[in-house]
Amino acid sequence: MALSGIQIFKLLPKTNCGECGVPTCLAFAMNLASGKAELDACPYVSEEARAQLAEASAPPIRPVKMGSGDTERTVGGETVLFRHEKTFFNAPILTAALTTDMSDDVISAKLKNWMAYQYERVGLNLRPEMVAIKDVDGSAERFAAVVNLVKDNSDFGFVLMSENADALKAGIAACDGYRPLIYAATKENADQIGPIALEKDLPLAVKGADIGEVKELTEKLTAAGHKDLVIDSGAREVKQAFEDSVALRRAALINKDRALGFPTINFPCEMADSLEMETVIGAMFVAKYGGMVVMSDFQGESVFPLLLERLNIYTDPQRPMVVTQGIYEINGPDENSPVCITTNFSLTYFIVSGEIEASRVPTWLLIMDTEGLSVMTAWAAGKFAGDAAGIFVKKSGIDEKVGHKNIIIPGYAAAISGDMEEELPGWKVLIGPREAAHLAKFLKEWKVE
Ligand code: SF4
Repeated sequence: MALSGIQIFKLLPKTNCGECGVPTCLAFAMNLASGKAELDACPYVSEEARAQLAEASAPPIRPVKMGSGDTERTVGGETVLFRHEKTFFNAPILTAALTTDMSDDVISAKLKNWMAYQYERVGLNLRPEMVAIKDVDGSAERFAAVVNLVKDNSDFGFVLMSENADALKAGIAACDGYRPLIYAATKENADQIGPIALEKDLPLAVKGADIGEVKELTEKLTAAGHKDLVIDSGAREVKQAFEDSVALRRAALINKDRALGFPTINFPCEMADSLEMETVIGAMFVAKYGGMVVMSDFQGESVFPLLLERLNIYTDPQRPMVVTQGIYEINGPDENSPVCITTNFSLTYFIVSGEIEASRVPTWLLIMDTEGLSVMTAWAAGKFAGDAAGIFVKKSGIDEKVGHKNIIIPGYAAAISGDMEEELPGWKVLIGPREAAHLAKFLKEWKVE
């Protein structure tokens, strides 16, 4: 049974030392209760209190870490049914399947393509993260060879899929240090597959005929010492798979059923016979609680929409996406290049910088921290006021980079020009276009005033 923040607070040291990252034990207790903090962040909890708190502070869906390096990801750890209640934390891992009967050339070509599917957006690198290697003939040697091929040609993490214990052991040995997901323990093979994952402390997928069977398996495996489990409800029919996905999330969050409190793995690749339909099904699992989404392939037109959907759903709705305040160089500007200023709302930045880039005019772009507000909102809220913008321009050091004193402000913020010029003696504040789409023409025609 989960404890309230006050109940947790009573078990904490109450010294308010702040070592946990918040100033008081009460604040830490509240964070623990809402799943925003981990108990280990407080080094002073007594063993007795720790035992009592461990259950209460664990997230209702266990966070499971897998992969390594740039593609290390955590799945699970979610605390709400609906994004607008707080946020979703750990985006589903996009995974594509390889089989051991594919030739090395085919696998290498696929990996080359998949590695190229990386997109810069709002300062993030959007990309798929894992491959699922499916053993088709039980050959341990071939299974390990495919793992090595993937290692040599990509930085993808691994799902190792085999019913053969020897093949799994060979695959695990080949991807030492990569923390693969082992797929899958079933009612029939859990006694053979379970110990293999447990020995190396690796995450283990659990596949049942239905949720009831999954629950029996997770209880059995948890009792055997497994902590990091991932659930496959076994459904391969879209409606049933969707219902299972929702039922699992509700069981974990509402019924507090620890036996079902694990992230899920879903297989659109086994639910459709075209990549288009797989992508639609994959999109459903990105929206509704998939921890991992396994596709038969990635094509630019399939993976990009999934990445964007994932980005949109797994951003904190209460926190605007921002870019860092500073001077951005676009198209290699020099001392004669124009200087523009705008706010740090990420969408504003990407639209403005995109237009400047497309114009090919070398330009300095100053991004001012307006707490993630767009130009008009920031201006209306007083966060993009003339005096503040002037002080920012002075402190930015842009005057050391250019030989003129012109600065172009967004047309929608024309009202700040007077205050800005007062704050920036000698500078001429030029009012740029209202719409970023007209910026290219403006920049091309700009001359020092
Ligand atoms: Fe309290 Fe522990 Fe945080 Fe210190 S580290 S403020 S004792 S909860």
